[in-house]
Amino acid sequence: MASTQELSQAQRAYLDELLKHGLLIETGVDGLYGRSGVFEDVVDRFNVLISRYGGGDGAEVMRFPPAISRKHLEESEYLKSFPQLAGTLHSFMGNDADHLALLKAIEEGRDWTLGQKATDAVMTPAACYPIYPTLAKRGPLKPDGAMVDVYSYCFRHEPSVDPARMQLFRMREYVRIGSPQQVMSFREMWLERGQKLMGSLGVPVKIDVANDPFFGRAGRMLAVNQRDQGLKFELLIPITSEEKPTACLSFNYHQDHFGLLWKIATHDAQVAHTACVGFGMERVTLALFKYHGFDVEKWPAAVKKQLWP
Ligand code: ATP
Ligand code: ZN
Repeated sequence: MASTQELSQAQRAYLDELLKHGLLIETGVDGLYGRSGVFEDVVDRFNVLISRYGGGDGAEVMRFPPAISRKHLEESEYLKSFPQLAGTLHSFMGNDADHLALLKAIEEGRDWTLGQKATDAVMTPAACYPIYPTLAKRGPLKPDGAMVDVYSYCFRHEPSVDPARMQLFRMREYVRIGSPQQVMSFREMWLERGQKLMGSLGVPVKIDVANDPFFGRAGRMLAVNQRDQGLKFELLIPITSEEKPTACLSFNYHQDHFGLLWKIATHDAQVAHTACVGFGMERVTLALFKYHGFDVEKWPAAVKKQLWP
């Protein structure tokens, strides 16, 4: 069994290599990196590959900036489960005297953020969050439900030396909203597709049940329930550890959680169920560099053909 220290050494070592090869660019904050043109090209090509698998399903494309309404975050109950991960957006809203006090605090090395006030926006915790209130506003779903394609930077406050655990990263998702049957068969389909898609990129994958990092003592119960009911599956790829592979794709069944919160109704007036498949764009890209090397030109021909057909 690798110790926690060995694991973080392996993570740091891979991060150092990525920085040395210029694929990631340091900012001085753990989990916050710039990306090189090569890194971005792989992300973009992988994004296109996802569309080749899912694009024929007729999902409605929606793109949101990496922030959502603070009211929607409150309504989502995200703060009940993951207060430790949420990021809020604060701004200066004072007068001239407050401005002077702010500059003085910076000059004296004191905390200048104390006077900042919460804005109406917060950071997006997962790409699918803005779509539930959006769909709810439209009224009851059509008989075949809805499917949405979202792609966004997401923020989670989990600073780490693990390059696969960033604070700002991109998530591409397909989200299904409808009856329990519609939603379950969507998830089944993507569990298979996801394995096929990742297998075509020459990386080893494993599927496992998983749970979200619910906060606190009450959270431990929620995590156990989530696992017992098989609500979350992850497609894992070893990136910095064989023993602790990294979740690169997630398949989440929220049951009627979001449907109840936002009153999303099916065509026959039932509470809508929802599920999403989420691709961690940076994690997949990091896995590709791990298995095929830092020189994209030298990647296996079959992998290059998938990404640059
Ligand atoms: P983990 O268990 O590793 O914290 P998660 O289960 O919380 O991940 P989800 O909430 O299911 O992740 O997010 C969907 C996908 O987004 C994950 O499968 C993963 O690929 C990616 N992802 C999640 N957190 C991060 C992060 N901090 N940095 C990079 N990618 C991430
Ligand atoms: Zn989602």
